[in-house]
Amino acid sequence: MTVSARSANLDGMLARMTARGFRSTKPRRAVIDAFVRSRRYLTARELHEKLAATRGTNGSPAIGLATVYRTLEVMREIGAATEQVQAHGEIAYLYCPIEHHHHAVCTKCHRVEDVPCASIARFENTLAHELRFTLTQHRMEFFGICRSCARR
Ligand SMILES: [Zn+2]
Ligand SMILES: [Zn+2]
Ligand SMILES: [Zn+2]
Repeated sequence: MTVSARSANLDGMLARMTARGFRSTKPRRAVIDAFVRSRRYLTARELHEKLAATRGTNGSPAIGLATVYRTLEVMREIGAATEQVQAHGEIAYLYCPIEHHHHAVCTKCHRVEDVPCASIARFENTLAHELRFTLTQHRMEFFGICRSCARR
């Protein structure tokens, strides 16, 4: 999904958030915007640093680490984020559109691209015929080298 498509999703996500009773404050929206734009797993601390780095340029007030934590938690609660526990125990989050999709992960820069789900019917058939297994859910992740890393 492109960055513009993801930003277009922002409004829908904010609506979803307020529908669930979470307040859509300005700092929270700034956190969500930065979160949606980053294409790798980030801990609250890392996202907070990223926000702090851009702050001086647009003159908006500082956003506290607690706000970042809470916003990421809200994103997870409304189903717009997946989490990954890091080696040191900290939780990293990745923005995930609500629609079913898969991930292509770059093993060099850790960028994550969303991949639409395709050709699952073939697997479903194999499972049904050869194993008499009814598929109800699946998970897939692809690993490789992203476009910009391949160019280097
Ligand atoms: Zn995703
Ligand atoms: Zn890469
Ligand atoms: Zn799928």
